[in-house]
Amino acid sequence: MSSDLAAAYHTVLSTIATAGRGRPVRLVAVSKTHPLERIEALAALGQREFGENYVQELVAKQRARPDLTWHQIGPVQSNKAALVARHADWLHTLDRAKLLPLLDRARPAERGRLNVLIQVNIDAEASKSGCRPEEVMPLAAAVTAHPNLQLRGLMAIPTPHPEWTRRRVSFERMVALYAELRTHHPGIDTLSLGMSDDYPLAIECGANLVRIGSALFGLRR
Ligand SMILES: *Cc1c(COP(=O)(O)O)cnc(C)c1O
Repeated sequence: MSSDLAAAYHTVLSTIATAGRGRPVRLVAVSKTHPLERIEALAALGQREFGENYVQELVAKQRARPDLTWHQIGPVQSNKAALVARHADWLHTLDRAKLLPLLDRARPAERGRLNVLIQVNIDAEASKSGCRPEEVMPLAAAVTAHPNLQLRGLMAIPTPHPEWTRRRVSFERMVALYAELRTHHPGIDTLSLGMSDDYPLAIECGANLVRIGSALFGLRR
């Protein structure tokens, strides 16, 4: 079982390296629903960054392994914002200004700034969270007004269209939005796009952080 994990990890790392053609791309291992032992096993192979969807699950796992880097990649309700600020290193799903003072106030000084990505609902899906593309600029400006938050870039979960050309269109729209944001905020450095079934394409288009669950850990229960 552990050797399966090692094989999957090395496959993912080499696929990332090939797709990135030498560009650095960070891998966030999405460990949601998987027990701590699987995280420990992957950490023993050298993986440092892990992603969780549910705030309570991130809190429990971060308490067990505070030495690892924890990414909150699921939506955050206002009443969970303070927990995210205390336990996460990164938030990928900022989609409204209302969360900002809650995050900023609860961030412990000793943890440094919370890294923030703005989630964009790039395919305008009614069921999906994320802000509209035209809301990115004002939201980014609002993040920079909070001293305990650090704007790092953008995140999206495009519609999983069966046609790759349509997925490419969504990824390329995100790349363009990211480039535009960067002209106003030259310090940003992260475009979080791509999951198990489309990360090579996302990287080819310009993603430099991928979030991968099932390709590493197998299917979720
Ligand atoms: C679950 C999840 C992933 C990982 O999905 P896989 O298809 O298992 O790689 C990535 N990003 C988000 C936001 C997720 O919720």
